[in-house]
Amino acid sequence: MCANFINFLYLIASICFIVALKGLSDAKTARNGNVVGIIGMAVALIAVFCDARVSNYVFTVLAILAGGTIGIFIAKKIEMTALPQLIAGFHSFVGLAAVFVAVSAYMAPEVFGIVCDGAIKMSSLIEMSIGAAIGAITFTGSLVAFGKLQGILGSKPIMIPERHLINSVLGISIILLIVIFCATASMTSLFGIILASFALGLLLVIPIGGADMPVIISMLNSYSGWAASGIGFTLGNTLLIITGALVGSSGAILSYVMCKAMNRSIFNVILGGFGSQKSDKTAEGTTEKSDKPVAEKSDTSGKLAKEGNALDVAKLLKGSKSVIIVPGYGMAVAHAQHAIKEIVDFLKKNNVRVRFAIHPVAGRMPGHMNVLLAEANIDYDDIVELEEINDDFKNTDLALVIGANDVTNPAAKTNTSSPIYGMPILDVESAKNIVFIKRSLSSGYSGVDNELFYNPKTVMLYGDAKKVAESLVKEFDNI
Ligand code: NDP
Repeated sequence: MCANFINFLYLIASICFIVALKGLSDAKTARNGNVVGIIGMAVALIAVFCDARVSNYVFTVLAILAGGTIGIFIAKKIEMTALPQLIAGFHSFVGLAAVFVAVSAYMAPEVFGIVCDGAIKMSSLIEMSIGAAIGAITFTGSLVAFGKLQGILGSKPIMIPERHLINSVLGISIILLIVIFCATASMTSLFGIILASFALGLLLVIPIGGADMPVIISMLNSYSGWAASGIGFTLGNTLLIITGALVGSSGAILSYVMCKAMNRSIFNVILGGFGSQKSDKTAEGTTEKSDKPVAEKSDTSGKLAKEGNALDVAKLLKGSKSVIIVPGYGMAVAHAQHAIKEIVDFLKKNNVRVRFAIHPVAGRMPGHMNVLLAEANIDYDDIVELEEINDDFKNTDLALVIGANDVTNPAAKTNTSSPIYGMPILDVESAKNIVFIKRSLSSGYSGVDNELFYNPKTVMLYGDAKKVAESLVKEFDNI
């Protein structure tokens, strides 16, 4: 079929993807955004079959069916809490695909239509070398991110001596190899680019601590988009160029927004030094997860954390005029959102003002809490972002923290040696009363102790978030 028709289909698909992105930026329109995205992808698949260069339909249909089946299987099976590592895993595939396409184009340039006067065109050499470099960095970087988030590598930063020097040498080598490759088109330089980029991707992400991982995931998302865009140029595929650029730029914007939310420098993220400065000094602010019995655990000044019971907390909740609920990773693990909805319904019936305070990096992926609360039919208007709600904590009777930890930790404001220093936190400390629902006094993802547990205003309600929330609902009947 004619190229114009295919480009027309690509245009429709691209518009669908842009509209989908817009829809996905708000929980209220996210479902529709997803549907529009699916339509865009269907249009893109139709365009594949219209392309005269696609000669083996059976193979193409089998590839689509295999990919689709794996996608449906993973989507149905995956736990919400494991989504970040799934995304990191997917990014690694995009990166590897970019490397494979570059190597294939180099091996069989005539199939890709990139030969001119018996040699590969200069523009194609540039595209394929840059695409292969970004793809290879994305591949190993994403694998390390996957390993850290999955707990295979541990979330603590792994510091390699002279890493900045090694990274600089690798970066300069990659640039030189790209220049040599463009001048000579030699296979050795192409494989040199790929190997050096594999090493750079690994070294860039390995020193990043767990608490800084969200920005890295978003940054790798951006890299994978640019790698896909690079593949698009090599394949001469307009849609891939556009979608790659969309993913690349939206990932970069998200990284910037997250850096601002965590008070980090975007340049440090890109250069891979992110988190390492502060993490060098983790000894003072960091502890291993503690499973000490509750009564024995005290802070450095010997204060004990106060343990409460469900009945007292239920009374406290009912007697409050305003309550702010701070959800975190523990709510997601415990699947507590539906039980929490029952608490909210009860409180609202009793004229208590209830809102949810959402930290941009609560949970294990951007928007994690919003998705779970939406799933439990929590009113969108009751879900408020950090910067809008932080000033209201001081006028709030009770801050109910459910499975959150790092995002409430005042050490981020006061302890310059803490790895989370500088990250804006939810100002739970200012509320008149504080209740933490979690299983122990263990630290959160960043491995930093939370002094708020020992605050005289704080009551700890130990247990699995779902079970504790259900026990609160039961106690409401008794008061
Ligand atoms: P944290 O990881 O700081 O704390 C979660 C707390 O939940 C833990 O202290 C744990 O305590 C508790 N918990 C775990 N399981 C349960 C359960 N079943 N019931 C009750 N409580 C439970 O989570 P936050 O959401 O506060 O902060 C997110 C952290 O993750 C930040 O450091 C952020 O930088 C990082 N991160 C965020 C990503 C993102 O994109 N949002 C991605 C990657 C990392 P206990 O064991 O005592 O129960």
